[in-house]
Amino acid sequence: MSSDQQIQSAVAAAAAARDHLAALIERQCPGPHGYVQHRDRQQPWCPRCGYGANGERVRTPAPEPPRERMTARYMMATTAYHRSGDLSRPADLALIYGEDGEWWIGEWVYGYGFVEVRFPKAATRPLTPAERERFNYRRIEGGPVSQILIRDDGLAGQLGADGRIVWPQPPDQRR
Ligand SMILES: [Zn+2]
Repeated sequence: MSSDQQIQSAVAAAAAARDHLAALIERQCPGPHGYVQHRDRQQPWCPRCGYGANGERVRTPAPEPPRERMTARYMMATTAYHRSGDLSRPADLALIYGEDGEWWIGEWVYGYGFVEVRFPKAATRPLTPAERERFNYRRIEGGPVSQILIRDDGLAGQLGADGRIVWPQPPDQRR
């Protein structure tokens, strides 16, 4: 690879990392997320979550009552909309973490950059056992999760700091 090519590939990687950081920050925010310049001589930061665009938490906001957010689960989706446009694709894996009337809220597992994507419930379904087996334990790069961990009921597991799988608590044990 020539040094020109190396630089171009580093530019692309840096842009992808910035997109990923923006998606992570937006996802953790109780929302609506947006950067505001405060009179504190700091970079603009979001009044809801306290993060600046560079990933520094400028302020720790006052704790809010826990928002009723759905336990994350995997589903198969096709039709998908985002404020930036139509994100529909052939049947593919989606991570769902919210609900709004006729819509599931989540994001595509493969290909990142768009969070809070809206999937019509009518066009979205639970995984079959064969699909669960096909996707489970797959490692992926750059997505909302680094490894796909799917419990039998479709709920999403996470890798803990010690590398062990953390499964969500049943709803009555949360809070
Ligand atoms: Zn925010």
